[in-house]
Amino acid sequence: MALRDDFPILQRKVHGHPLVYLDNAATTQKPQVVIDAMSDYYSQSNANVHRAVHTLAGEATDGYEGCRTRLKTWFNAERAILTSGTTEAINLVAHAWGRANLTKDDAIVLTEMEHHSDIVPWQMLAEERGVEIRYVPVLDDFTLDMEVFEASLVGAKLVCVVHTSNVLGVRNPLERIIKSAHAAGAKVLIDAAQGAPHVRIDFDAFGADFMAFSAHKMCGPTGIGALLVRPDAFEEMQPFMGGGDMIETVTTEGSTYQDNEHKFEAGTPRIAEAIGWNAAFGWMETLDLEKEHKRMLEIARYTAKELRGMGMTVYGRHDDGDSAVVSFLHPKLHSEDMAHLLDAVGYAVRTGHHCAQPLLNRLGISSTVRASYYFYNTMEEAEQFIAQLKIILERFA
Ligand code: PMP
Repeated sequence: MALRDDFPILQRKVHGHPLVYLDNAATTQKPQVVIDAMSDYYSQSNANVHRAVHTLAGEATDGYEGCRTRLKTWFNAERAILTSGTTEAINLVAHAWGRANLTKDDAIVLTEMEHHSDIVPWQMLAEERGVEIRYVPVLDDFTLDMEVFEASLVGAKLVCVVHTSNVLGVRNPLERIIKSAHAAGAKVLIDAAQGAPHVRIDFDAFGADFMAFSAHKMCGPTGIGALLVRPDAFEEMQPFMGGGDMIETVTTEGSTYQDNEHKFEAGTPRIAEAIGWNAAFGWMETLDLEKEHKRMLEIARYTAKELRGMGMTVYGRHDDGDSAVVSFLHPKLHSEDMAHLLDAVGYAVRTGHHCAQPLLNRLGISSTVRASYYFYNTMEEAEQFIAQLKIILERFA
């Protein structure tokens, strides 16, 4: 597969075996163009942004702002705030919008499917402000209980929902969620950490008020992500971190703030990371994302079917639109042991609660093994993975 050649790490061996990287829901690998773009910045253009007239400062500023421009065109969004990742983007909504707009008479709607980064910031806000949190349950078919969701909207000011579950791969019915929430007068935050890497999202047409995601799950570097915001919600946000770059004027009496995204990006930003992320978008642009998404889903369906045939429990359904994440458990062999045995022959999978303890509690388990596919994975790798698991089960289960 030609595109695999773009990823130097895929050439390496682990314990003497070729690496089969199946931990893409945690983080994806980086193509050479991303590594080169970051290295070129440090070796040729390194300077601080926005502050000086010299050539290097101009190149650094263009590189950093180039990432924002790319985000706005890729997602069709008017406002793109650069953050350290999904987690910081959600915390930013809690601080900059939540603290300015929510009081103890308000409610927030979350789901049992959320990642901890879309639960804990709201629990902290609830503790501070007395805001009520309501959770939409997950049904036995791994979907949200939409009846409870609709009922929970009464008096709600904000709905926070994961686009695609990092444990189940289930894509939520976001169009309906956004429509109902807006009809009830609530704003909507989408955690697209797992959605944005797999499908093209038109943020403006989508209609959500906030959307958070991370570069490192879509071939970009760690340490950078974004919060997309609709213009009316943007106007309702108050600055969270104070410091350089976010101000218009500062006197000893007080300060005024910038009125664009810089208002929420105090201090020296992630310049090399922004340049790397922009290069990742450039690389992804060469792919037919829809076709790739279908191909990965086929690999996930094959994996899930084989695993069920081997007596494993698979958590997820792999419908059209879901992501290529396969979470599973063997009735006897512990998930950690399985992951160690797989690592010994070069397979990288994830185990644990995947930062979604409420969901795992709901499923009555404390851990799964998770294989998650991305563009550079092949059906051959999935077949080898299944064959390897059969060997492990024969020997150890
Ligand atoms: N939400 C979901 C659904 C995720 O999968 C992740 C990453 N595992 C996050 C949020 C947090 O992303 P980050 O650690 O990049 O901030």
